[in-house]
Amino acid sequence: MAGTPDDHKEACKTFLDQTKQLITLASAFLFAPAGFVALVKDTAALQHTDKIALFIAAESCFILSVIFGYVTMGTIAGTQHDGSNDVYRAATRGFSLAQFGTYVIGLVVFGVLALQFWFAPQHGAPVPGLDAESANAPANSAALAVSASLALPGPVNLGDLEAQLTAYHDFGGYERDLRAVIDESEQYVKQRANSAHRPAIVLDIDETALSNWERIVANHFAYFPDGPCDHLPQGPCGELAWERAARDSAVAPTLELFNVARALNVTIFFVTGRDEAIRQATEVNLKRVGFTNWQQVIMRPTGKSTGSAADYKTPARKSIEDAGYTIIANIGDQPSDLVGGHAERAFLLPDPFYRIP
Ligand SMILES: [Mg+2]
Repeated sequence: MAGTPDDHKEACKTFLDQTKQLITLASAFLFAPAGFVALVKDTAALQHTDKIALFIAAESCFILSVIFGYVTMGTIAGTQHDGSNDVYRAATRGFSLAQFGTYVIGLVVFGVLALQFWFAPQHGAPVPGLDAESANAPANSAALAVSASLALPGPVNLGDLEAQLTAYHDFGGYERDLRAVIDESEQYVKQRANSAHRPAIVLDIDETALSNWERIVANHFAYFPDGPCDHLPQGPCGELAWERAARDSAVAPTLELFNVARALNVTIFFVTGRDEAIRQATEVNLKRVGFTNWQQVIMRPTGKSTGSAADYKTPARKSIEDAGYTIIANIGDQPSDLVGGHAERAFLLPDPFYRIP
């Protein structure tokens, strides 16, 4: 039955009131997230495309939710003028569910975004990790990249830099970047393990297989080759004393790669700049944290000092190849671990904490 002119007017009035309410809600959804982001983080953080993509996704869901809500009200109003007020129409139910669904999805995406900002390093831009493509970059490229990421005028402040590097390590950025490179190397090892002749991989030790973080942070990123290491966690901590104590922890993603490679019958060689004099402690440390059944640990001859670690690491890889192995992957945290060839693929792990020429 058709409604009276008054019914018609009432329906239009309800529709307009609901629209007004919807616009208010939409404003909250559209502007509140942006306001929240501005509050918890400086604008420099928004240069990260991954976060911007999440922000746009969340906002898109909210906008869709508003549109679906508008259509839902339209379907209700469509029956209101004839007096039936049928809110159980299929169209009403469908668009109502769509509105609720997109709203919940938007809320979840926005929650993820907010958590990312909350746990991000305090200086906005994270310290960039070096990837495999950076293997040929200048030796101090990581330090230069860190400097460039600070938006302050004048020279980089050492205290700020220390805080940034510590946050990069402690808030997951370091492990994330490390794991990304290890995952890539693992894919290649899996791909080549069965087709290469006597496949082998070469691993560096420090900041590749073993982590010196406890010593590094105790020394405030400074380097003390000699002296005791008996004031941890405050430091200072002499490097040789630390290595003799065999206290390093495993670099977890590298240990996972190690085990995958072993399961595929890939032979493992460690090639390290550690002095031959600390072989026993180094091997004890490796075994203690889970690296077992390697083929050989090749160390720097005692007292031998060269301009670059590559001066003895490259010949070490050549000697492995001369013994009949195919080095399918060479993995290290310093460009000097990788330059000079003698490996099918080289994988550079992030290490903005120190540089070994
Ligand atoms: Mg290293």
